[in-house]
Amino acid sequence: MKTPRSPNSLAVIGTVAIDNIKTPFGVREKVFGGSAAYFSYAASFFTSVALVGVVGKDFPDEYRAVLKEHPIDLSHLQVVEGKTFSWKGFYEHDMNSAKTLETHLNVLTGFDPVLKFENKPPFIFLANIDPHLQAKVLDQLEKPRLKFVAMDTMNYWIDSQRDALLKVMARVDAMVLNDGEARQLTGEANLIKAARKIREWGPQYVIIKKGEHGVLILGDNLFFALPAYPLDGVFDPTGAGDSFAGGLMGYLASQGEVSFEAIKKAAAYGSMVASFAVEDFGLEKLRRIKRSDIEERLDLFRKLSVF
Ligand code: AMP
Repeated sequence: MKTPRSPNSLAVIGTVAIDNIKTPFGVREKVFGGSAAYFSYAASFFTSVALVGVVGKDFPDEYRAVLKEHPIDLSHLQVVEGKTFSWKGFYEHDMNSAKTLETHLNVLTGFDPVLKFENKPPFIFLANIDPHLQAKVLDQLEKPRLKFVAMDTMNYWIDSQRDALLKVMARVDAMVLNDGEARQLTGEANLIKAARKIREWGPQYVIIKKGEHGVLILGDNLFFALPAYPLDGVFDPTGAGDSFAGGLMGYLASQGEVSFEAIKKAAAYGSMVASFAVEDFGLEKLRRIKRSDIEERLDLFRKLSVF
């Protein structure tokens, strides 16, 4: 794969997980996942990324070796006594929404991220995790000013930590979330109205993922809609959202500058990475592709969407 432009232009905090997944195409136990794992693997096709997270002593060496395949800095991945965060979920034929069966926070409870960057990464992604932990990372990094901070969340935290979540949202440049979460968070059925409401709460950009229906992006009087890459074989949608965000932020960080035009292109890269991620369980498909496969699919996608 290509050599990244600059070391650690991007950092992510999120979960590193052991997942149990059921889709209409099969059941897999002990799949390597978590929001930060998918995000960092996807982002590191474009730039090097520092992963801030925690795992238990049970975290398998072979999972660590997977992250090491890409330029992912693991010096902020703490290993502590206890069990790694785990999630169990399933998808029915509508694979756009995951149904959670079990969430075991395990070592996430009591996790205290302490950041020691020699050179602070200018791009930060607060992936899906307890908003108090997202805030702790921002507390340590946001001054002096960062170039771009984006965040994600999910129903679990919207239900249980809404106030803390709104406080973090007020501090970021962009909010990335899926359609169901946008509706749940705002109480608005219409996604444009939901995005406008979220913008009023802080983020300049709102990026709404709609699974196989693509992405909507709202900025200040700016609007962009991108279809999804049409796939005839979606095996496991787990990690699609994190891979999308990873591709988007990885591309942006590799460019170094942020504008609405750059975000549009970055979203197209993110969509391509996500389209690969769902073609197999866990990180398996992403492990088999190269940056050139992403570029090739993007070229095809451009031809499919121009008229
Ligand atoms: P997604 O990209 O939205 O499909 O995210 C999938 C990943 O989210 C899985 O690998 C899970 O381990 C992780 N996950 C599930 N529940 C939570 C949670 N409450 N907080 C953080 N990560 C989670």
